[in-house]
Amino acid sequence: MERLHKTNNFPEFTGKVCPAPCEGSCTVAIDDDPVAIKSIEWQIIERGFKEGWVKAQPPKKRTGKSVAVVGSGPAGLAAAAQLNKAGHTVVVYEKDDRIGGLLTYGIPDVKLPYDTVMRRVRLLEEEGITFKTNEEIGRTISWEQLNNDYSAVILCTGAQVPRGVGDVPGKEANGVHFAMDFLTQNTKSLLDSNHENKEYITAKDKNVIVIGGGDTGVDCITTSVRHGAKSITQFDINKIKEDIRMDNNPWPLFPMTFAKEDGHKEAEAVYGEDPRAYQWFTTAFVTDEDNNLVGLEAVQAETSLKMETRFENRSLELKKFGMLILFY
Ligand SMILES: Cc1cc2nc3c(=O)[nH]c(=O)nc-3n(C[C@H](O)[C@H](O)[C@H](O)COP(=O)(O)OP(=O)(O)OC[C@H]3O[C@@H](n4cnc5c(N)ncnc54)[C@H](O)[C@@H]3O)c2cc1C
Repeated sequence: MERLHKTNNFPEFTGKVCPAPCEGSCTVAIDDDPVAIKSIEWQIIERGFKEGWVKAQPPKKRTGKSVAVVGSGPAGLAAAAQLNKAGHTVVVYEKDDRIGGLLTYGIPDVKLPYDTVMRRVRLLEEEGITFKTNEEIGRTISWEQLNNDYSAVILCTGAQVPRGVGDVPGKEANGVHFAMDFLTQNTKSLLDSNHENKEYITAKDKNVIVIGGGDTGVDCITTSVRHGAKSITQFDINKIKEDIRMDNNPWPLFPMTFAKEDGHKEAEAVYGEDPRAYQWFTTAFVTDEDNNLVGLEAVQAETSLKMETRFENRSLELKKFGMLILFY
């Protein structure tokens, strides 16, 4: 346990959700399957929690210095843990009503349960860290006040602005949503009321298109499946990946090879096929006279690993979609 914590503050988080670039760079991966570092760490830490081996370890001495950490995502939590271990008195300020940043309000609960986040937060509290929620620096407390009150202030505020879709006509239509609004509202409603308050964007009975082929897109698929979407399609602007590394993607780079995430498998099990559609680039959201989303126009794109994009003449017009989740 001690050895594991020397290099990883939160193996129970990374063991669940880290994309594990270390595994692609493992020397065994040159000609075989890599050492399953992520799963091994996860097994060790979960066994440790089960057996009661993971215990709070407050510092033996305090330095008399104090630090305010702004933001309680993984960066804020790790900074707080390290500074507390060094003996400083640490207070974490979080603007949301729950601790965890995107661990709590980005990654779906089904992938990283809130209980797992809080199990660690309680340990950090036992070690002496104070957590304050619903405190937004710059609004409920000023930067000046923090600077006056603490020996140091650390900003761990994350990326709070979603990436837009550019100048695509119709992007303000009813039914077009940012992934983060969809995922955050879903988790908050789940944790607050087990979805009973209905304060979330629902995918139930909708034809869902997820724009973006990355992990956040997969989280949108997972959530939409659970809502009971009518259909789910994930647009990936890139070409379908090969099963083996290409010449321009050698070891020890992160392997850009074909993978089927759990969300893809789930959608396939429910709807009968892998939800991914490759090389589609959205050019317009089609709306009715009340600005409701009724369709989507897209062109097929030719991309390289460098994300250079060139368009072909093929085009796609879909007029059946009732809802769209957006991630870029
Ligand atoms: C949907 C989604 C899924 C993801 N899935 C994975 C995954 O499976 N695996 C993986 O490795 N990575 C994943 N990521 C990426 C990962 O979540 C982020 O890289 C990581 O959370 C960044 O950590 P952070 O602490 O810098 O920021 P955040 O987690 O964003 O935390 C920042 C915190 O600061 C708070 N804050 C901001 N401004 C203020 C202020 N003025 N006052 C007080 N508090 C403030 C915010 O409320 C927030 O809680 C995912 C990201 C998203 C969006």
